[in-house]
Amino acid sequence: MLRTSLTTRPHSSMSITILRISPKLFGFLFGCLLGCASAAFASEAVIPANGGFENSLESWRYGDAMSQAVPDAARTGKLGLRVIDNDKVKGSSLFSSSYPVNPGQTVTLSFHARSDSSFIAVYLWPRNAAGRLVKDPAIRGDGVRQVAIKKSEDWRHYTVSATIPDGAESISIWVHSWSSSTGTADFDDFILDGIASGTAPLVSASELAAASSAALARAEKEKIPDEIPPRAAPPIIILKLDDLKQVNGNAHHSWTRVADYLASRNIKSGIGVICKTLEEATPAYADWIRSRHDSGLVEFWFHAWDHGSWKTTDGKSLSEFDGRTFEEQRQRLADSQRLAKEKLGFAFKTFGPPGGGSGRHQDAATAKAMCEDPDLKVWLYPSPIDAMGREIATAGKLTVLDRVWAVNIEASVGQPSYQRFVAGYARNADREYFVLQGHPTHWDPNRFSEFEKIIDFLIEQKAIFLTPSEYAARLNGRPAQQVSGK
Ligand SMILES: [Zn+2]
Repeated sequence: MLRTSLTTRPHSSMSITILRISPKLFGFLFGCLLGCASAAFASEAVIPANGGFENSLESWRYGDAMSQAVPDAARTGKLGLRVIDNDKVKGSSLFSSSYPVNPGQTVTLSFHARSDSSFIAVYLWPRNAAGRLVKDPAIRGDGVRQVAIKKSEDWRHYTVSATIPDGAESISIWVHSWSSSTGTADFDDFILDGIASGTAPLVSASELAAASSAALARAEKEKIPDEIPPRAAPPIIILKLDDLKQVNGNAHHSWTRVADYLASRNIKSGIGVICKTLEEATPAYADWIRSRHDSGLVEFWFHAWDHGSWKTTDGKSLSEFDGRTFEEQRQRLADSQRLAKEKLGFAFKTFGPPGGGSGRHQDAATAKAMCEDPDLKVWLYPSPIDAMGREIATAGKLTVLDRVWAVNIEASVGQPSYQRFVAGYARNADREYFVLQGHPTHWDPNRFSEFEKIIDFLIEQKAIFLTPSEYAARLNGRPAQQVSGK
């Protein structure tokens, strides 16, 4: 008896552009993501790629923190998939990579699973050229082949087969827990039969972009030197953690995890808020922010109103504070400051613009709006300083803290890299401070442990962790050091 509700699915309506690339190129790109690894998709590769989760969630498309690769969930090897769904409203969602198929072809999926309740199922998900689900009218109910996981302490073997319906061009695996049910389940050793071994996964345009930027990051990465050059003074570190918003009436657990971890080590940080959800802030969410603010360990700063990109009349996609009129930008800031005062009891003193779109994330109208706001004192510049930044700094009202590209938590958005961090740090021994950006909601346990390694290293270096406002106050009118990094 299946109780799935296809209306609550988070990703089903998403349209993704799919590109066909050669196995060799795919192997190269994703091999680069691994950092080490070998012929990730050599010709005998089993399908799906990384079906045993030995490379964490690499080549799986995940969008929620409920699905993680952890050692305790391994049936074979070092890692397995664990889904923890404590949410009575939302279900989990994890897709495998997609593989090209033809209508009429039969594919069979096998895997192992164990679960503490019956709350989750595994689906064979045929997609059309646009990446959308193709239902099979011959299958009653949801129109898609699936197998529900039974409650069982011991690993059980499952199989599910599907004949590819007309109109489908690819297939992926979907691991999804039902919206109103809760539980914990482990999965391992997915094997998809019926597709020629060595067939390359299809890649979405965004995955391809992510893979190439990671490849670039790897190409630039230098070896960690045997000795870290001595510094005149310990570095000042400003942790810039982006994109806090209310989710299901609370701070997402990736935020409580990072905030609790930093508090346990008595480390200060700055958390960038997407303010629109403050409108419906629950007491729990507002209290969570307020108590961290009151502890003095966290400065909450203004990151965005909605973090949405928008389209110009000629079809260009721009980030929230790029290209909009001064009045619009001022309104977004004013609404955010009003809600901060109303719901949190303080105004933001620091601004750091949101990314997205294809432009530069801030412009002259942004500068005017931020300079006119009575409470803002600090600008977390999204890049090494440029002419506009120098002008803002010279005007004196705002302290501009810029970035050194080579020294950051993340090698590309959402991907912390200890090795890249230390290599860049070693090349910048003469820089007084670093603004280190991270996106904690993107960090699975492996990524989080890279972050922990960076923090351990900085503690060894006797780093001084300050909030943006504290550092600006220490500068006491002196402009922050603005040299391009190496
Ligand atoms: Zn952001």
